[in-house]
Amino acid sequence: MNCKICGNKASFKLKSHNLKLCEEDFKVFLDRQFRRAITDMKMFNRQESILVAVSGGKDSLLCWHLINKLAYRSEGVFLDLGIEGFSSASKDKIFKFAKERELKFKVLKVEELTGLDIRMMLKKKRFCAVCGMVKRYWLNRYAYENGFSVIATGHNLEDESAVLLGNILHWQLGYIRRQSPRLDAVGSKLIRRVKPLYKMSEYEIRTYARLEGIDYLSDSCPFKKGNTQDIYKEALSLIEEYSPGTRNNFLFQFLDKKEDIFEKEESVQLNECSKCGMLTTQETCSYSKLIGKEKARYELQEK
Ligand code: SF4
Repeated sequence: MNCKICGNKASFKLKSHNLKLCEEDFKVFLDRQFRRAITDMKMFNRQESILVAVSGGKDSLLCWHLINKLAYRSEGVFLDLGIEGFSSASKDKIFKFAKERELKFKVLKVEELTGLDIRMMLKKKRFCAVCGMVKRYWLNRYAYENGFSVIATGHNLEDESAVLLGNILHWQLGYIRRQSPRLDAVGSKLIRRVKPLYKMSEYEIRTYARLEGIDYLSDSCPFKKGNTQDIYKEALSLIEEYSPGTRNNFLFQFLDKKEDIFEKEESVQLNECSKCGMLTTQETCSYSKLIGKEKARYELQEK
């Protein structure tokens, strides 16, 4: 098996791209994918300060590593959910990563921010939805309060295609229309969000992270079990196995054709939330409603 670029012995086979590559050309190929994602989607520029949301896993650490390698200005932020063993192990990996590269990162303790034990909330049925909402809210608020113009996350090709499949299966037209590796800022309080790894598969990310010597956390969050997104990922992996490249086509063709499929969305009226002052389409934002409800529940239990 020879490298398609240089003809030397190939070490990696990227079935979805029908490519066999040596180690050096594998890195060049993925660096180009990453750079193109940033420039083609106009994710950020060199004047901007990027807040990278890191979890200690391969995706977010590789994302931060590549942003740093390209000499963009960045800082990391970790949302500490206080999950026994898992959260401290995640933090240790990020600490080591940041120290080795002399990068700044901030730990936000969710319990201190919300005044609630998030683990109690996560024991409820839709834990990932609750957790996702809390994390999105605080990432945005921290970025806004600290002058960051963009938030970068480590979502990869499998994540994005699974979200698209889930939304199509339930015909969530609003979500389908808005799905993009770049979500623009609204006013000054809703910060732009970008996903520079959206073209890279888990295999490519895992391999690249290993080649770059990134020491990441392989363990999954204990609350992840039964996550419906994983079922969509498995379904797409099965199709990909039989027909390599289908997952790429599914996501990239959608992103290319989206503008032709949907009419331009009318801008939505956003107001300041009556409780926290951040932007929302309602009088009180979903995050403030959730926290208010949970606090009332705890007070009742304590009586
Ligand atoms: Fe939160 Fe764990 Fe679900 Fe991730 S897997 S969204 S950290 S509960």
